[in-house]
Amino acid sequence: MRQPGERRGVPRSPIRCYLTRRRYAGAVTEVSCIFCQIVRGDAPSSQVYEDDDVLAFMDIRPFSTGHTLIIPKRHASGLGDLEPELGGKVFQVAQRIALGLRRSSLPVDGVNLMLADGRAAMQTVFHVHIHAVPRRHGDKLSIAKRVLMRRPTDLDEAAALVREGLDKLATEGR
Ligand code: AMP
Ligand code: ZN
Repeated sequence: MRQPGERRGVPRSPIRCYLTRRRYAGAVTEVSCIFCQIVRGDAPSSQVYEDDDVLAFMDIRPFSTGHTLIIPKRHASGLGDLEPELGGKVFQVAQRIALGLRRSSLPVDGVNLMLADGRAAMQTVFHVHIHAVPRRHGDKLSIAKRVLMRRPTDLDEAAALVREGLDKLATEGR
């Protein structure tokens, strides 16, 4: 049964702003962070790569088919919290995903690797991540449209194609 002050099973924060009386949402913690939930297996994801430190999975609202997110498994909300050594590992995986995308059967002429650090840079999920976005020649309009109207697509199918590209890289000894 719902307790007083509880909404859809989520206890309300007792902390309110003194002036606006709005509830203060509080900082993103490892418990509430959606990417940490994915790392723990508490939230679903279509994964393409995993090692001890880094995880890569499909973006739920892709800019293009194959749009992959590469994250450190340890929570870091921004670059300021990320150990440089771990940042290097995340970038190395992002580089490999970019090469794997090109080797996959997805239509890929190029790849954007992007990282938003901070709200002003349009970061929306506060767990460091690199976007790997497959690009085609002349796709500016379709990408712009997808940026404005992003919808979930078949992520498992896209993930299988990305994994296939990564496997090809590995068999080539790269
Ligand atoms: P940014 O705006 O750079 O912080 O990117 C956050 C990205 O995370 C967006 O492209 C979202 O579509 C993506 N995203 C948010 N929640 C999930 C989720 N549960 N699974 C996969 N991708 C997600
Ligand atoms: Zn996190």
